[in-house]
Amino acid sequence: MPAPSLDAVANLAKRRGFIVQSSEIYGGAAAAYDYGPLGVELKNNLKRLWWEDMTRRYENIVGLDAAIFMHPKVWEASGHVEAFSDLLVECRTCHKRFRAEEVSKDACLACGAKKSFTEPRKFNLMFRTHLGPTEDAGSTVYLRPETAQGIYADAPYIQQVMRLKLPFGIAQIGKAFRNEVTPGNFIFRTVEFEQAEMQFFVRPSEADRWFEHWKEERMRWYHTVLGFPNDTVRFHPHAKKELAHYAKAADDIQYHFPIDWQEIEGVHNRGDWDLSRHAKFSGKDLSFFDEDTKEKVLPWIIETSAGVDRVLLALLTQAYTEETVKEAGAAGRGAGEKRLVLKLPRHLAPVRAAVFPLLSNNDELVAKAQEISRELRQHFVIQYDDAGAIGRRYRRQDEIGTPHCVTVDHVSLEDNTVTVRDRDTLRQDRVRCGDALIACLRTV
Ligand code: ATP
Repeated sequence: MPAPSLDAVANLAKRRGFIVQSSEIYGGAAAAYDYGPLGVELKNNLKRLWWEDMTRRYENIVGLDAAIFMHPKVWEASGHVEAFSDLLVECRTCHKRFRAEEVSKDACLACGAKKSFTEPRKFNLMFRTHLGPTEDAGSTVYLRPETAQGIYADAPYIQQVMRLKLPFGIAQIGKAFRNEVTPGNFIFRTVEFEQAEMQFFVRPSEADRWFEHWKEERMRWYHTVLGFPNDTVRFHPHAKKELAHYAKAADDIQYHFPIDWQEIEGVHNRGDWDLSRHAKFSGKDLSFFDEDTKEKVLPWIIETSAGVDRVLLALLTQAYTEETVKEAGAAGRGAGEKRLVLKLPRHLAPVRAAVFPLLSNNDELVAKAQEISRELRQHFVIQYDDAGAIGRRYRRQDEIGTPHCVTVDHVSLEDNTVTVRDRDTLRQDRVRCGDALIACLRTV
């Protein structure tokens, strides 16, 4: 099947309660999105899988939830005040702004006006605001443009209280904010987004090895945990001139979006840039005592920085499937008709199972289905649905990626079994209620 367009994915996401533009009743806030009831379940599942993979599997990686507001000097030390900017040009005719690297020299992308751009000027991507009632320079604070700096500033504290030895890592998931010049492509580039980052502190002599290690580990995660096929994700190594101000080496992990290959995660060797800058700006010695070498060392940092929203967009794109139905029946469509199904990895699907009474006007079937639904709800996210023909109910669940549909029929009333229909194979099996049903729904 050809990859769906971003519009098709965005339409489905909106129509089925995953993602909607922020403040839509006012015409929408530019480049900000809300995750609806199904979106938040999916996003939470995604973050949980990342967290488990990055913290529980390793003895030497711990978690953090740092504040969004930090001391303003942090952003001077990190280089963001000085260097976190895009070169921006403005069309003199329609006054739209573009990143200089995006525009062809001749024509405006928005209005087509020829040779009407201003000279490029620097535009800082950090949102600035003021703490407290006055707006003097002393009260300036920033919405963090990346979660990493919270980790660096707390690293000496965490190392000490958790008695960590090199190498060790600190993981964090949190919001970041960037005043992007050209936000767009649905949730691909927004001004408020979430990052899932792990900063790994290593001996300088071992940095190259750990950089390679984390590249492979993160690629493994995309393949084995999220199920992205080999031909949909790749590395994009940065050439020297592409490197950010802090990086000694960098490899993007890119996903093949309908728009093109685009970055979903960056793996960076940041050298000692961050800790040496924070040591300088704070006046504190941020080196650690290395138990093995018995020497003080200023660790280097290997960073893995994924965008939760971009990975989620990749997941939706990957899952969006339109297929032709071979046989009428469990597909909820007639033979030859199209079926739209979101083939999300089962452990990520926002709803684990839907429970239906076969007939919605039969009190006994309804009561039994509601009872089963209540019981299953203690273990999974469940939807109960008795509205409309059973085929329509299947279709609604297919579109949100529900792996199992549990139907209560007349046989259920006699022997306490139900049919369980599989989203992908469309097979229907009879399963006994209770532990057997729970085990069946747990299978991923
Ligand atoms: P880009 O080149 O696309 O602007 P970046 O190289 O600036 O991205 P990083 O600073 O490496 O991105 O941030 C790490 C991750 O955070 C990115 O791989 C991406 O998934 C996510 N990210 C960065 N900016 C945005 C944004 N404006 N909206 C959504 N996600 C973002």
